Amino acid sequence: MQVKQDRTDGRGATRPSVVRSSRHRIVVVGGGFGGLFATRRLRRARVDVTLVDRSANHVFQPMLYQCAAGIVAPATIAPPLRGLFGRDRNVRVLLAEVHGFDLDDRIVHARSPSGDELALPYDSLILATGMQTSYFGHDEFARYAPGMKSIQDALTVGSRVFGAFEVAETTADPAERRAWLTFAVVGAGPTGVELAGQIRQAATSTLRHEFRRIDPTLCRVLLFDGGKEPLATFGDHLSGRAARTLESMGVELHMGTMVTGVDDRGLDVRSGDGAVTRHEARTVVWTAGVAGSPLGRLLADAAGAKTDRAGRVEVLPDCTLPGRPEVFVIGDLMSLDRLPGVAEVAMQSGMHAARTIRHRLEGRPTHPFRYVDMGSMAYVGRGRAIVDFRGLKLSGFFGWVMWLAVHMTFLTGFSNRFAALMSWSLAMMGTRRQRIFTAADVGCPGERPDAVAGPGSSPGP
Ligand SMILES: Cc1cc2nc3c(=O)[nH]c(=O)nc-3n(C[C@H](O)[C@H](O)[C@H](O)COP(=O)(O)OP(=O)(O)OC[C@H]3O[C@@H](n4cnc5c(N)ncnc54)[C@H](O)[C@@H]3O)c2cc1C
Repeated sequence: MQVKQDRTDGRGATRPSVVRSSRHRIVVVGGGFGGLFATRRLRRARVDVTLVDRSANHVFQPMLYQCAAGIVAPATIAPPLRGLFGRDRNVRVLLAEVHGFDLDDRIVHARSPSGDELALPYDSLILATGMQTSYFGHDEFARYAPGMKSIQDALTVGSRVFGAFEVAETTADPAERRAWLTFAVVGAGPTGVELAGQIRQAATSTLRHEFRRIDPTLCRVLLFDGGKEPLATFGDHLSGRAARTLESMGVELHMGTMVTGVDDRGLDVRSGDGAVTRHEARTVVWTAGVAGSPLGRLLADAAGAKTDRAGRVEVLPDCTLPGRPEVFVIGDLMSLDRLPGVAEVAMQSGMHAARTIRHRLEGRPTHPFRYVDMGSMAYVGRGRAIVDFRGLKLSGFFGWVMWLAVHMTFLTGFSNRFAALMSWSLAMMGTRRQRIFTAADVGCPGERPDAVAGPGSSPGP
């Protein structure tokens, strides 16, 4: 875009107008997989990018459970966004919470950590604020059953899991001790399965020799899900393999069940025949549901667009909003062709949005978003993973090798890859060093009068 600008000299005389080129301004909201890949694709372009996130870090969410399980350090899976774009002069990173849009004047409204209001003008907008934990209308569960969406969530879960063993060690009452050594994971998707497997693995390898009064290997890990098998989206064959691996590790599968109540002592679960069973479990983790970031609905309302039942914004085939070609919604928050909420969709839609903007500026033709399915995978435990890659179905050790290769590829930064490899090697030998908590972090927040918990995940990194 060309703009004319008048300049005055020191005596107030107007100098001849100069023509200065003002570059296309792009605001990217959210530095998760979608926002990160969009911004990367724009860093060499003749545009100015403002990447705004309420977290200072890009979080590699697929490895959050490893942070909770004491394997990897938070820094390994959450590099600072500012560091990732430090050398890219056309990218400005802002730590702020976005809370509104003025689509006619093309301004994003955000609030800085100090409370200052920021108005961020744009020529193109990319919204990539993902999903948050959903308790299916039971937001009161959040107080007792943390989700797993942020680093803060992972640290909370880690403190509660490892803290439960500490309390059990000092508890005289056998029933109480049993309850502290019972862990309930709600949701048997990849996160629930990975976490359940890791709790058993930590107990049977890392913790087994560390306690004097309790036997950590006797801990119970209960996995609840409404479906008929864990990791149902992988199909019967791989789900069956995952179920057998989990059971061999000592995870108790409660499929076809619905959690009807959660409190600071445990949870109530309804089975298929309608019977409700009470489980005393001092640690409950919720990995069962997600809902769109509230910004999705805000944007859709402002643009007259629709959201689906989960709060994802319905977009046109090129990932833009109807009637607003300059506004893209990508990643988990985008509702398009029933694409799944996975990292690959976020990365590819981010690159698509960046490419579309560049092509428009260069006067080249643009295309609808075409997703290339790269398959899916989940780590089950003990060096075993399941992988579904374009019809190639792997499980066990070979699945794990592929899982390892893919995670090494997508983890951001050489030092993080090296640190993750070291941490995984140590974990294989039973060493989990990332267990950092105090007595105040242990137990259900519902028992602590100072604790405030709400639905969704914490806004921290
Ligand atoms: C525990 C877990 C395990 C997973 N495992 C896998 C896996 O094994 N394989 C796989 O493919 N996918 C996995 N996923 C899904 C994958 O992580 C997501 O699909 C992907 O992160 C979506 O990217 P995104 O950019 O759309 O959103 P996100 O990565 O969620 O990023 C959203 C960003 O927006 C920011 N934000 C939100 N609201 C605001 C606001 N108001 N103002 C400013 N910033 C805001 C957030 O801080 C965040 O940085 C997993 C997800 C989780 C939670």
